Amino acid sequence: MDLTATFLGVGNARATSLGNASMIIEHNDAPWLLVDCGFDTLDRYQARYPTSLPPAVFITHCHFDHIGGLEQLYFLARFANKKPVIYISHLLVSTLVSVLGNTLLAEGHENVWDVLNIVPVQHTFFHQGIKLHIYPVRHHAPTSAFSLHMPGAFFYT
Ligand SMILES: [Zn+2]
Repeated sequence: MDLTATFLGVGNARATSLGNASMIIEHNDAPWLLVDCGFDTLDRYQARYPTSLPPAVFITHCHFDHIGGLEQLYFLARFANKKPVIYISHLLVSTLVSVLGNTLLAEGHENVWDVLNIVPVQHTFFHQGIKLHIYPVRHHAPTSAFSLHMPGAFFYT
């Protein structure tokens, strides 16, 4: 499998010139999996892939500089008739739903989660047939942040 990792941002929540921490994993030069989606992530993503949207996003944790772009992703996907997959630890689903549920409303006889397709993850998940692992990491409260691991390929934390 030919994978490439490109960091779209490497800053913290206040480092706007460095961008919100995010990485795109490409497979055969095409976007495969976005890791985190902060406020500026989609602008940086579309600078690299004009008029495209990420097919899938893995969320490491629910700080705004990692999920703040999901509202924009919802609207862009909704009007492009896309349904990006959102992989997230099952322990964080309630937090994500609470945060986005306060900003996004179900409209037009459609639920927000019909567009943003949440896939709760316990320990592992398959993305396009490839098995990925998640592990809790120390960042904030216990089990509030997760790493992403593809054995033999990469470990992101
Ligand atoms: Zn954080």
